[in-house]
Amino acid sequence: MKLTCITIDIEEEFLKNRTVLKKQTIRLLSLFKKHQVRATFFICGYLAEQEAGLIKKISQNHEIAAHGYTHHNLKRLCPESLEAEIKKARSAFLKIGLDPKGFRCPFLIIPDQLERVLIKNQFQYDSSQSAALFTYYRTLYSFSRKKIKGIKEIPLQAFSPLKLPLSLTTIRLLGENFFYRFVPGQINNFLIHPWELTEACQKNLSFREKLAMNSPFYLNTGPKAFTILENLLIYLKTEGYHFITCQEWPIKQAVN
Ligand SMILES: [Zn+2]
Repeated sequence: MKLTCITIDIEEEFLKNRTVLKKQTIRLLSLFKKHQVRATFFICGYLAEQEAGLIKKISQNHEIAAHGYTHHNLKRLCPESLEAEIKKARSAFLKIGLDPKGFRCPFLIIPDQLERVLIKNQFQYDSSQSAALFTYYRTLYSFSRKKIKGIKEIPLQAFSPLKLPLSLTTIRLLGENFFYRFVPGQINNFLIHPWELTEACQKNLSFREKLAMNSPFYLNTGPKAFTILENLLIYLKTEGYHFITCQEWPIKQAVN
């Protein structure tokens, strides 16, 4: 049986607009409902505190996991601050009645001691390791990638011809024709950010945000990204994939 995890990072890194973030997250939930997708949402702890209603709504059909408390680079924290950050992330979810078992580092930057701190805080798996040669941001860090050992790891995949992360961003930038020509034999872990479903011309974006969204990085965002994502979900279903959450991933190490 082919299994796949759709993973969504909820943060305010690229688009600092809470209204848009919430709106696009709700659109994602509707799309997942339409295609009977169960996914894993990696969410910053402060958002669990501030948007408890939305996070609880997501948890009704999907797995909730932690994406740090803030969206800070964990590698820049001293050991004490790292412990405090991860403890605070877990507590934020516990306060609203959720018990996250999974963790993903902001920017996929893995600090030393991560495994120890995750285990200490009762996390059961991590999903920060990436086989991509570089990510779209913080490129330098990709060359000091750390391998996760000692805790179950569900790595992000790389799209093989170019070693880009296997994500909606990659399909947006390369185009569907190119993607499906080189589509991986197995899609285990596919990454989405809700902001990608946002159109630059939306009324409630600031001038700076609209300007930023006209850079090449934002190519094919908005309705095009929504269509690309829906096409991917249809492709996965046609190929016989079953959508499972990261917590349900049955083997110790996903294929990469
Ligand atoms: Zn993130």
